[in-house]
Amino acid sequence: MGTLATCALCGRDEETSFHALLVCPNAARLWDSMQSVWPLPSRMDITCTGTEWLLHMLVEAQESIRSRIIMVLWRIWYLRNEIIHGKPIPPLDISCSFLSSYYNSYKNIFLSVEEILKGKTPVMECAPPLASSAIQPARPWPAPASNVVALCVDGSYNPLDGSAGSGMILRDDIWTVIFASYRKLFHCNEALDAELQAMKEGLQLATAHSPFPVVLQSDCAVALKMITIDSFDRSAYGHLVSEIRRFLFDREVFPLKVSREQNRVAHCLANFSRDVEIVLLVGWIDRLHASPCWLLKIVILYL
Ligand SMILES: [Zn+2]
Repeated sequence: MGTLATCALCGRDEETSFHALLVCPNAARLWDSMQSVWPLPSRMDITCTGTEWLLHMLVEAQESIRSRIIMVLWRIWYLRNEIIHGKPIPPLDISCSFLSSYYNSYKNIFLSVEEILKGKTPVMECAPPLASSAIQPARPWPAPASNVVALCVDGSYNPLDGSAGSGMILRDDIWTVIFASYRKLFHCNEALDAELQAMKEGLQLATAHSPFPVVLQSDCAVALKMITIDSFDRSAYGHLVSEIRRFLFDREVFPLKVSREQNRVAHCLANFSRDVEIVLLVGWIDRLHASPCWLLKIVILYL
């Protein structure tokens, strides 16, 4: 997603991702209109916390709101590109009804035929706006000590269709994102398998991108136990476990059980990669390339 030095649409400001997606008049109008249809947070409550503002906003939003936020931003970016390329854009109400119907179609994908026949299809989701209550204060994430990095990992597995994904993020003591990554997993038997695969890849990337000791944060007590108990693992994942343990010898690694809430960045990344309907998905952001474009790319692949 390439932005311009000065916004070509309004000419008022530098076209940062925050400006293009929330501040620029066209963007603001669509967001505010959708806020009367969906319980989106008020733009006044969204702060630009730096290049990762979008990631922060999504992490703090309720799961049910997150996908709608992404859809609105995706539409805003699409309309921005249409204008930049000199194309006419549809009226505001057309974009609003497009988003509503698209979201309902997307939700229906997860309903069974029986559920649809029973009338569980949402004809039009018009929840009353929750404004600032859509963003809930999060339980504090346990940041590592200085000169130590924290690796949050999570695996996601859907037993209904066998789809799976992994998500991981490496941060330092002042919350700087060193990298965040997600991957669709194609060979996965169950949730525990996804967790272990996420751990292995996360440690592999963390040791390659930081020289410091690693706090390995996971919300899966079973997986943490498997990699820390000093015995020969005879389970189906014995080989995977021994590969993970190898990192524990090469680098100081401190496994730490965290709550699901504290692990929700990795959880969110894992869910994204699990649910997309494409052949291959690997995503990556780091300090140099941190930008909301990766999330927009994901939602485009979603639709
Ligand atoms: Zn502008």
